[in-house]
Amino acid sequence: MGNTSTRIATRSAGVAVSAAVVLAGGALTGAAQAAPPHAGPGSSGVGDPYYPEYGNGGYDVSHYGLKLKYQPATDRLDGTATVTARTTQALTSFNLDFGLKVTGVTVNGRRAAFRTASAHELVITPARPLRKGQRVTTVVTYGDTPGQVKVSGITSWHRSPDGGAVAANEPESAWWWFPSNDHPTDKATYDVSVTVPDGYQAVSNGRATGTRRAGGWTRYDWREHRPQASYLATLAVGKFDVTTSRAPNGLPVVNAYSRDLPADVRKNAQQSLERSAEVVQWGSKVFGPYPFDALGGYVPNVKAGFALETQTRPFYSPAFFRKGPNVDVVVHELAHQWFGDSVSLRTWRDIWLNEGFASYAEWLWSEQHGGDSAQKWADRTYAQYAAGDKFWQVKPGDPGAANQFHGAVYDRGALAVHALRAAVGDRDFFRIVRSWTAAKRNGTATIEEFVAHAERVSGERLDQVFRTWLFTPGRPAKGPGH
Ligand SMILES: [Zn+2]
Repeated sequence: MGNTSTRIATRSAGVAVSAAVVLAGGALTGAAQAAPPHAGPGSSGVGDPYYPEYGNGGYDVSHYGLKLKYQPATDRLDGTATVTARTTQALTSFNLDFGLKVTGVTVNGRRAAFRTASAHELVITPARPLRKGQRVTTVVTYGDTPGQVKVSGITSWHRSPDGGAVAANEPESAWWWFPSNDHPTDKATYDVSVTVPDGYQAVSNGRATGTRRAGGWTRYDWREHRPQASYLATLAVGKFDVTTSRAPNGLPVVNAYSRDLPADVRKNAQQSLERSAEVVQWGSKVFGPYPFDALGGYVPNVKAGFALETQTRPFYSPAFFRKGPNVDVVVHELAHQWFGDSVSLRTWRDIWLNEGFASYAEWLWSEQHGGDSAQKWADRTYAQYAAGDKFWQVKPGDPGAANQFHGAVYDRGALAVHALRAAVGDRDFFRIVRSWTAAKRNGTATIEEFVAHAERVSGERLDQVFRTWLFTPGRPAKGPGH
């Protein structure tokens, strides 16, 4: 995620505190007689230290098949989600994370009972309990007006004046358009089919696999066949100009720009996004092979103070392009394709692995394209915040849910990366980065694993460097590299 202007855009309304979910054991006694040994309800969260209720226990999703129909005039979204999973324990019931109104659920073809346990927990009780290791196909049918759904005061459904809508936010975004196991530890592949009135386009992740027109409606099919975290899935409906091309490496590039953008914003946005292939080519040299097989981005006409690294196709608020072309934000979101999207965080506490590296990528880009060196960026950033500034009290290695997107996670986070580079030297630094993205490709990782990896590759003890820059409040006595 990238924030506009100040960078210190603390999230105004976190959703960290959600109502405790009490699973009704009583309702399950009838089924329990037929239950496999040790069958019980799946947990309502994966136990993330910042968001304990996010994600669910008891199963692992491999694929989401989403068939959606959106009516801009009424903000009506109807959907059928087919969730393919395998159980990791015997289950009498399990949860999906979702915020919209559900009308029906089947599990392995049989009608299942369902109820809402909190603003974002859907509890499903299959007709028969599930064995451990069983393949499970859950079909959820739903319909709602997502723009009216707020959870703890926030919405991640952004309407545009042309009647369109965009689902994008971090970490909460899926609740407004599909039921999921909403945590980065459960990545899956996606097929997204969206039917919209003729004249509108629907954009999602990965490759466009087809378009079909019938009876005043157009269906757009998208496929992301590499593992994708639920918050990195995106949907955009609107009146877009869509440009398609091929990157030098042969990958399809799809960019979309709202037709409503002011002419100068549109021009600036296009001059920035059209460099995506060049940025990806540069990133492939610096960070290792590009992990996906499509790229691009989209700029809808919505009011939002951020850009987001939605997989293969980042979301950019038009706010980034008001003053001129902005390649930095493109570099930031595309660097996330390696740091965040391919190598995803194990828990939300590991956010530095995403934002520290995406921010540092902007300094590296500058250094290698005739701008200031990363050392100069580091010196300026260190000097920018006085020792008494609250900035230095936020620990990028464990900022807390309320400060997860605090400027310190970005700027001090980038200083931490530079401190590592200064400690091990350029040769080992780039070896560390490239072998890290290779070792963790399409997986998840913790900061502790990164520290161990950096020590292994460099052969040096680095705990002091990371303790100083990631885990100790207060401004270090000297900037990195001095
Ligand atoms: Zn970011």
